[in-house]
Amino acid sequence: MSLHDDVEEVLIDAAAIEARVAELGAQLTTDYEGRDPVLVSVLKGSLVFLADLMRAMDLPSSIDLMEVSSYAGTETSGQVRILKDLSKSIEGRDVIVVEDIIDTGLTLNYLLRYLGERKPASIKIICLLDKPARRLAEIPIDYRGFTIPDRFVIGYGLDYEERYRNLPYIGVLKPSVYGGAPPEG
Ligand code: 5GP
Repeated sequence: MSLHDDVEEVLIDAAAIEARVAELGAQLTTDYEGRDPVLVSVLKGSLVFLADLMRAMDLPSSIDLMEVSSYAGTETSGQVRILKDLSKSIEGRDVIVVEDIIDTGLTLNYLLRYLGERKPASIKIICLLDKPARRLAEIPIDYRGFTIPDRFVIGYGLDYEERYRNLPYIGVLKPSVYGGAPPEG
């Protein structure tokens, strides 16, 4: 029995992710030349992307991690609870928000306001996956890895009930794993 047996389809394979992350890292290296950005990431889904992206950037940089949870009813309110805040002030810093996937955009919309109030010099957004079909909040995405269709994906950091984060590719699970309809978001 292998983890891979639960996967119905691989949408983006490991080689394609690696190549795209290298391109994004090179782009950031050029765009942030002479600066010292802080990569702000949201646990836990973005961890794998962050780990690869930071090593693809030839720049002095630092990282900070936040953890948030959505309140019930987030669909309408976009209200988010901060479980783990920034460790250090971002005032005057060039912030790059590193996201795994942008779906409705509500989480990031809240986070951008929150980070903006902390007076960074600049904020840019990089996401590995953009799922525009369900977007409710307009998000200015500066760098994106891939645009994907409206499907629930797992792997490369993304989970279903905390599993599958360690798959090296982005995939879709067999319906039998969910025991019915795939989860929302
Ligand atoms: P948003 O606020 O943009 O709707 O959702 C952001 C979060 O929802 C993502 O950071 C991720 O944790 C989760 N999410 C959205 N779409 C998917 C998906 O297709 N697969 C998984 N595993 N998580 C998702």
